[in-house]
Amino acid sequence: MKTNLLDFNLPQLTDHFAAMGEKPFRAKQIMRWMHQMGEADFDAMTDIAKSLRAKLHDCAIVGVPDLMVSQESEDGTRKWLLDVGTGNGVETVFIPEDDRGTLCISSQVGCALECTFCSTGRQGFNRNLSTAEIIGQLWWANKAMGVTPKNERVVSNVVMMGMGEPLANFDNVVSALQIMLDDHGYGLSRRRVTVSTSGMVPQMDRLKEACPVALAVSLHASNDRIRDEIVPLNKKYPLKELMAACQRYLVKAPRDFITFEYVMLDGVNDRPEHARELIALVRDVPCKFNLIPFNPFPNSGYERSSNNAIRNFREILQEAGFIVTVRKTRGDDIDAACGQLAGQVQDKTRRQEKWIRIAEEKDQ
Ligand code: SAH
Ligand code: SF4
Repeated sequence: MKTNLLDFNLPQLTDHFAAMGEKPFRAKQIMRWMHQMGEADFDAMTDIAKSLRAKLHDCAIVGVPDLMVSQESEDGTRKWLLDVGTGNGVETVFIPEDDRGTLCISSQVGCALECTFCSTGRQGFNRNLSTAEIIGQLWWANKAMGVTPKNERVVSNVVMMGMGEPLANFDNVVSALQIMLDDHGYGLSRRRVTVSTSGMVPQMDRLKEACPVALAVSLHASNDRIRDEIVPLNKKYPLKELMAACQRYLVKAPRDFITFEYVMLDGVNDRPEHARELIALVRDVPCKFNLIPFNPFPNSGYERSSNNAIRNFREILQEAGFIVTVRKTRGDDIDAACGQLAGQVQDKTRRQEKWIRIAEEKDQ
């Protein structure tokens, strides 16, 4: 089988070339061709010796996933569905704003963590994405938007907030992050690449050593009782441990705060007493809050908090001195909002069936 060069970060590509008897600078050249020029054809890499090109033809590919569907919203949000084989597809979303362009990348086909309000979680888990499939999303976004090194940088920020739990696919995600940050790759700033986690404590500690980037933590609850219910991973890593892990992360983080994401679920976690409890919970963790109005999907069993409840919640946090943003829903017309990235998951866990059964029972 041919080696997919998109699976390698620069040190790995350098080692691979060394094993082929090639000099280290070749790895840098090929990185730039693949990631900066978006080139997948060795023949087009004109400053590479013909003999090496022939060698690469025989044993390597630049393998990006196939593009299945591309959609553009009225507000400029774009979404791509990439084919990752055997009936599975993952989604990538680009959100343009005045001062930045943010790409939301998936890390797994489905997710094993079963957060009750998340459509990806409801679909079950199929498999981890390879490094090539993760970085291939950034590759495609640049390709689809016609980016070249001479253009302005269109994707200035990356958030690992698509399908999947990035820290559950640690090695492949870290290699992809390293390619995003590498000057011979995409040259993104560490501060502008964000990993979002539901709170995998040991992997948060590993990430701060392996590749410290900005961190968002999906908190969603002010106490263990509610969080156990909606983020089942909390039973393994309860809030006290999670808060301590956030503090440890900040020692190495490129930003001096953690972003806490908080999905606003009507009647579940959106009351003034929850806001007050939250303030006490995060006392020792420098942080900002990002409130996400729940994005509904069929049979979710939840409703979005009222605008009033969201406003009150925000004001209580702000009065306590926190910076709070409320996430705007973008790309409504193409289902590109947070938690709506459904993609196509061939569910190995048959979880979808379980949820459909629960929904049917409720209807009866
Ligand atoms: N698995 C990671 C990253 C992917 S989800 C994590 O959980 O952090 C990105 C964010 O969207 C998370 O904060 C997640 O909890 C939130 N989310 C999931 N489903 C949602 C929904 N239906 N409405 C609003 N936010 C949702
Ligand atoms: Fe997985 Fe994140 Fe969805 Fe939870 S919210 S099920 S961790 S993708």
